[in-house]
Amino acid sequence: MKVENIAILMAMHDEALPLVKLLQLQQINKGFGKLPMNIYAGRYKSIDINLVTNGKCSKHGVDHIGSQAATLAAFAAIEQLQPNLLINAGTAGGFKSKGTKIGDVYISHPNICFHDRRINLPGFREYGLGNYPAFTCPDLIADTGLKKGVVSTGSSLDFTPVDLQVMQSCNASVKDMEAAAIAWVAEMHELPFIAIKSITDLIDNETPTEIEFVNNLRKASENLSEKMEQVIGFIWQHGLR
Ligand code: SAH
Repeated sequence: MKVENIAILMAMHDEALPLVKLLQLQQINKGFGKLPMNIYAGRYKSIDINLVTNGKCSKHGVDHIGSQAATLAAFAAIEQLQPNLLINAGTAGGFKSKGTKIGDVYISHPNICFHDRRINLPGFREYGLGNYPAFTCPDLIADTGLKKGVVSTGSSLDFTPVDLQVMQSCNASVKDMEAAAIAWVAEMHELPFIAIKSITDLIDNETPTEIEFVNNLRKASENLSEKMEQVIGFIWQHGLR
């Protein structure tokens, strides 16, 4: 698929900074009116790039993370920027039991689900799980050496025993807080979507997630920016395939 205009959606400022620098993107003032999201714009050769971060919560002074902000950012980006590919880039938790190491970078494949929307009613159970498709791009995966795995999204940095069961039943390799929300918006707009996630913390080890996350955020974000440049370079040369 030929790609001319990519919207890269990222939750946190610190996750995005290395990529903003690497691609030499410039911040656009007042990108989305009253919404807190920020736009960093530029070009990679012939491809228009708009990187959107969720911005800060004016009440609590922290980045807007999670599925609500991700949904809104995705909708605003699609309406205003008219991309023909959406990429959610960011950090995530991984599973030691799957051979994952901190700093590994994953691509969503073959699908993206939610692990904390438990609705035990006919039809709604599956609705809650979401199970949105990621765009299939085997050549990109082979060329970039990205690891592939199911991404599972929830509203918490930690997880309950039931969340873990759901992640296991979905064969999730990656746990984040945004990808499925964006996948939902992309599906409605019939837009191709992939998530690229760099692992900051391991869910099934002894160290508390919040400590690992803070310790590894910088390194994981740097790895993410390098892989994202490879991904965009491949797409520029060969399209998304
Ligand atoms: N305390 C942190 C907050 C990070 S929240 C701070 O403000 O510095 C976690 C963010 O990183 C979310 O956007 C989420 O998508 C991603 N993430 C990283 N590790 C995660 C994990 N184990 N579970 C869920 N999301 C994770």
